[in-house]
Amino acid sequence: MTTQSTYALLCAELKRLDKLESIGGVLGWDEQVNLPPGSADLRAEQNAVYSELVHREWTRPQLGEWIASLRERSGELDEGARRVVEEAGRKYDERTKLPPEFVARKAAASSRAYQAWVAARGASDYASYEPHLREQIELALEQAAHLGREADPYNYWIDQFDPGMTQAAVEALFTPLREELVPLVRQIVESPVKPDESLLRGFPVDAQEVFLREVITRLGFDFKRGRLDRAVHPFCGGHPLDVRLTTRFHVDNPLDSLFSSVHETGHGLYEQGLPPEHVGTALGEAAGMAAHESQSRIWENQVARSRAFWRYWEPRYRELFADRLDGVESDALYLAVNAVAISPIRVDSDEVTYNLHIMLRFELEKRLMDRSLDTRDLPGAWNELSAQIVGHRPRNDREGCLQDVHWSGGAFGYFPSYTLGNLLAAQLWETVNKQIPDLQERFAEGDYRPLLDWLRQNVHALGKRYKTDALARRVTGTGLSIHPLLRYLREHYLPLYTA
Ligand code: ZN
Repeated sequence: MTTQSTYALLCAELKRLDKLESIGGVLGWDEQVNLPPGSADLRAEQNAVYSELVHREWTRPQLGEWIASLRERSGELDEGARRVVEEAGRKYDERTKLPPEFVARKAAASSRAYQAWVAARGASDYASYEPHLREQIELALEQAAHLGREADPYNYWIDQFDPGMTQAAVEALFTPLREELVPLVRQIVESPVKPDESLLRGFPVDAQEVFLREVITRLGFDFKRGRLDRAVHPFCGGHPLDVRLTTRFHVDNPLDSLFSSVHETGHGLYEQGLPPEHVGTALGEAAGMAAHESQSRIWENQVARSRAFWRYWEPRYRELFADRLDGVESDALYLAVNAVAISPIRVDSDEVTYNLHIMLRFELEKRLMDRSLDTRDLPGAWNELSAQIVGHRPRNDREGCLQDVHWSGGAFGYFPSYTLGNLLAAQLWETVNKQIPDLQERFAEGDYRPLLDWLRQNVHALGKRYKTDALARRVTGTGLSIHPLLRYLREHYLPLYTA
């Protein structure tokens, strides 16, 4: 068989597997949005059967033979096709080199750890969760060893989320970023200018939803190939051809719903912008978690916190919430939208302090992965480092090391993606503003098409053709860099917080 015909067979099979996996996306969304509580056991059994089917289809020897043959003849493939084979090979190896016994043991341990985490967080009782976290770390190390990465497990895990990134590469960015960010945060939070967050209380939920849908539609989310529903946690799931967004509403915190939804919309716009003819292969897949996060953050922060955005939307906001905003000055509203404060909780943090929370987790993950930190000592290490990096010492484990779900599911190496995404978002922002000088004027008219088209062309259309750093280099002229983010934060926040 010719190389090209083998490649065609591989792509057809990958697209078929993608259809199969997309069913899991619908099931996952349904579980968060619709599932009656009494049916949770049935859903767990459905998930188990479904996972087994996906695993069986992904590990068929024929698929392995095509991949092996194309790996040998990769010189005959173009660059894009080589990426497709490389990624398919990576996924195939993951599924065939991990013993079924290990996969089942890990799934069971993760679901126990998640339950234990929920209970422990509620009671701020780290001791009851500690054995589960210990087990998750052992499983993460064991998985890396099955894939031949026992010598550098943390690099294996970082690469899972951001292809090509390593602990050393992350460190080379985070160390100087921290040195610049800590004094900048201090300068802002110690400013005599204080946002009045009490302005944003008592906003009826139905009007919030009306506003939100108007915003999301105008940003360019395609509701013919996507939905927005209510769930406990905001997320973006589904499939590029059927994107499912969720949000939640609080009467006394309208910005939480607005910004988290714009964030998820950014993820959704990326998915909807992937080239449909390649969906199922690496050329129709997001480049990695940092790239994904760059898309959500650029819409959430650079766009939706900008003056130009609020110039257009403020009249409509005032119309919908007239009794709340009567007598509130525009500048006061804008400052409340851009409130900066040190919070103990990562997910409640603003874009200035957020990255400090990530650096804290990165430091601890390194130590957990190389076993220089024992899980029994985690709370103390967390609190100490939090005081140093974030500038806040947690009062209990609930607002300390129990606050995030990630480690309970074995997601080590995921946290750095958030900050890498913020770096990339700022790099893209600087580049697009140079290339489209009237971008902000267009925002002030409610026109986001130029930005969306630029992102479609420069990021979305590329799929997973390039690894994270190479993508940044290709689109912005440099690899991942801290300077555009620091310039953006200084230019955006210092004028606001200077009396
Ligand atoms: Zn996100």
